[in-house]
Amino acid sequence: MKKILILGGGFAGIECCLKLESYYKNDAEIDITLVSEDNFILFTPMLPQVASGTIETRHIVTPIRTLIKKSKFYEAKIRSIDPYGKSVSLIGTNENRETLLNYDILVIALGSKTNFFGMKNVEENAYSMNSINDAILLRNRIIDLLEQAENETDPVLRKSLLRIVVVGGGFAGVETAGELNDFINDVAEYYPNIDSSDVTVTLIDSSSEILSGFPQHLAVFAKEKLIERGISLVLDAGVTSFDGNEVLLESKLKSNKVFSNDSSQKAGHTQLTEIQSIPTHTLIWTAGITPVDLIKNSAFETIKGRIVVNEFLQSKEFSDVFAIGDCSLFDPSLSMKKFPQTAQIAEAHAKTAASNIRQFLNRKTLSKFDYVWKGQSAIIGKNTGIASFFGINIAGFFAFILWRNLYLSKIRSFDKKLRVLIDWNLDLFFKRDISRFKISKK
Ligand SMILES: Cc1cc2nc3c(=O)[nH]c(=O)nc-3n(C[C@H](O)[C@H](O)[C@H](O)COP(=O)(O)OP(=O)(O)OC[C@H]3O[C@@H](n4cnc5c(N)ncnc54)[C@H](O)[C@@H]3O)c2cc1C
Repeated sequence: MKKILILGGGFAGIECCLKLESYYKNDAEIDITLVSEDNFILFTPMLPQVASGTIETRHIVTPIRTLIKKSKFYEAKIRSIDPYGKSVSLIGTNENRETLLNYDILVIALGSKTNFFGMKNVEENAYSMNSINDAILLRNRIIDLLEQAENETDPVLRKSLLRIVVVGGGFAGVETAGELNDFINDVAEYYPNIDSSDVTVTLIDSSSEILSGFPQHLAVFAKEKLIERGISLVLDAGVTSFDGNEVLLESKLKSNKVFSNDSSQKAGHTQLTEIQSIPTHTLIWTAGITPVDLIKNSAFETIKGRIVVNEFLQSKEFSDVFAIGDCSLFDPSLSMKKFPQTAQIAEAHAKTAASNIRQFLNRKTLSKFDYVWKGQSAIIGKNTGIASFFGINIAGFFAFILWRNLYLSKIRSFDKKLRVLIDWNLDLFFKRDISRFKISKK
């Protein structure tokens, strides 16, 4: 009996598990076990839509037990990995005992967490957008801000409550800023004392453009669309601190740029100024990811916290350990193509790793990882998006529809696909829900 142990129930871990199940469904000699701290797979690209209430919270998660057929599943937090003793220790709730699992083949697919680049006060005071919990907290926070601002009699305080800053001009930041801006506009009618000029959503990035992985004209289109919709952009600005009241900025170029839609001008007009700080009580941090501490402190060779793997996705030192998804990095000396840390790549890693595990167990030659980048798409608020696939670039409504179709097809279960589709359609006819649940951060 050979034991294959997979750590992490995200895009990479689940894909690898299902692929292995398809190879070994009738093989009693192969035992597959999956461990993950949540008992569901989270569809991260739709997290901003959960934060804005376009999609119901549970509709972007699929329980792992409904997907697997042969594998054993542990909902548990992994404590440590011992590649010398070929074992992994894990713990479920505080009440139960620590469990030790042995393996013949280990797959590490533990993803990443938010990177605050060592800025402790940002970590303590900011909201992030990496888990379902983050999206729920943020949604409640925004509704609470609207509730408080509605009855605030001091106009300066009211404006300060409604100043929301999103940091990070990648997918997560752009989509979060767009979704929150739409949400606030959509629910404005319930808050008659709040004027649209009281609300500011600002997106900050340390580089001079947003959505840097896209062709430049699409990134520029996205920038202009955000500005047109009233979102301010502060570019070339790195955040250095956030104490819960003010975010401090620093520019590599000694001057950052602010693009905003001045309401006294026609829509789309941009103003260029410079700023060093923004007073805000709500900062949403989406500006970076880093592997989980368990990996950083493990016995494996890492670069920037990611496990260094060879072209077959095996750890450099342990050929029976495969590392895939966000938490792995190809050995730089191999001069492999560079791939972004995305769900698309995580799933491609998983397919190659599963096939290589089969080859490894059969003592056959392994295949090198290769992948033809298909392209990417992003939405920038209601009915607008950008998409770039196989050299074809589109922007606007069709890109938005493409995004929806593409991502809908990627959700694992038919049941959840249908629920998301219904949510999107109901959103066309009904008003957004503004009920707030008192779920605290700690
Ligand atoms: C808001 C947002 C939007 C995004 N949009 C896109 C997009 O549009 N397109 C795209 O391609 N990518 C997108 N991504 C990136 C994509 O989500 C990641 O690249 C992808 O999730 C990586 O897959 P993974 O399997 O490596 O990690 P994950 O999917 O993060 O899975 C890691 C798993 O490991 C588990 N885990 C971690 N530590 C432990 C532990 N100690 N014990 C037990 N379990 C543990 C986690 O619970 C999780 O199940 C987005 C990400 C975010 C946050």
